[in-house]
Amino acid sequence: MRGPATELIHAGESGMGDAVPLTTPIYETSTFVFENAKELVAYNEGRSSKYLYSRYGNPTIVSVERKLAVLDRAEKALLFSSGQGATTTILMAHAKAGDEIVCSAAIYGGTLHLLHDLLVKFGISSRFVSIAELGTPERIIGERTKIVWFESPINPTTRCVDVQAIAQACRARGVLSVIDNTFASPINQQPLALGVDLAMQSATKYLNGHSDVTGGVVTGPAALVDPIEKVRRMVGTVMDPMPGYALGRGVKTLPLRIARHNANAQAVAEYLEADRRVTRVYYPGLASHPDHAVARLQMFGFGGIVCFDLDGQYERAERVFDRLKVIKRAASLGGVESLISMPVLTSQWGHTDDQLRQAGITRGMLRLSVGLEDAADLIADLDQGLAGS
Ligand SMILES: *Cc1c(COP(=O)(O)O)cnc(C)c1O
Repeated sequence: MRGPATELIHAGESGMGDAVPLTTPIYETSTFVFENAKELVAYNEGRSSKYLYSRYGNPTIVSVERKLAVLDRAEKALLFSSGQGATTTILMAHAKAGDEIVCSAAIYGGTLHLLHDLLVKFGISSRFVSIAELGTPERIIGERTKIVWFESPINPTTRCVDVQAIAQACRARGVLSVIDNTFASPINQQPLALGVDLAMQSATKYLNGHSDVTGGVVTGPAALVDPIEKVRRMVGTVMDPMPGYALGRGVKTLPLRIARHNANAQAVAEYLEADRRVTRVYYPGLASHPDHAVARLQMFGFGGIVCFDLDGQYERAERVFDRLKVIKRAASLGGVESLISMPVLTSQWGHTDDQLRQAGITRGMLRLSVGLEDAADLIADLDQGLAGS
């Protein structure tokens, strides 16, 4: 008779082979059991489909990675504990001391800080280029350039760049192109099909879509993703099974959600554009958007982010921001809930007038992540908010 401590730990574990679940369960385990030494040798020699340790791989995570690879028509996908975890791991795998990263100056703040403040400490330098310079991509690549990192659409102005042109210029020079595809999601934009080497996303946003998970993903060919997987093991930026499960559940409705985000955002953008209290509206789906033509060519839908300007006046933007009721004041985006932010209070906090001008941002801008509520309620909320402007 084994003692109660032994029984409580070992009785009833595994051995549920006859229960075939429809959905992938949460494999909430840090490690996996082997029968004997031979099985371990087979694993080490790559002749086994077994799992060893959850930092190396976990069935809950792998099931979601397979979905995300299929979605991007990629050979492989890797999940990370956050979008920043994905970015860091990609860059550590593919850049080394002495290399230069060329990065869009209009980029997610976290990416900017990572390149500007942290990677320099490891001898990896960065050069930031404007949206105009990204328009002639063959000219932005220098002697030491290893990676070109960019976004489209870009936060918060939703400006778009020619993804295929950048990818081609990089390929011609043997430079790795990486896009942060978070704003578009794979439903609205397929960067790998446009020739980009690697596509990264914050899974925190549209992929999960319910504002309750932090995660990141990269997709691409095995030759480029395998080295990233090796680094993920070393630095431990892997996603846990519990958020992996939530993400796998959330992503099942991605096409339905994105269709509604697109439709709601278009309706909101058209309403704002027709309202005289609003100076300017940025939405790639509007004919007035500076990059509408390229967006139409490379996107299947224009996304859920709408940016609008109240004459550059902070006080007016603040009044509208504070009055909204259905739309919540919060950072982040891509969830079922509509969220609003003031770029000068979040991603562009502390920036000088000059820096703001370069990024095409004003103090009177509001960025709206249009959620899945009824469009009429969102428009009514904006209408009563603007009444105070
Ligand atoms: C949120 C975001 C990130 C960072 O992702 P986290 O999951 O917050 O680490 C990177 N790029 C873009 C465009 C984002 O919106």
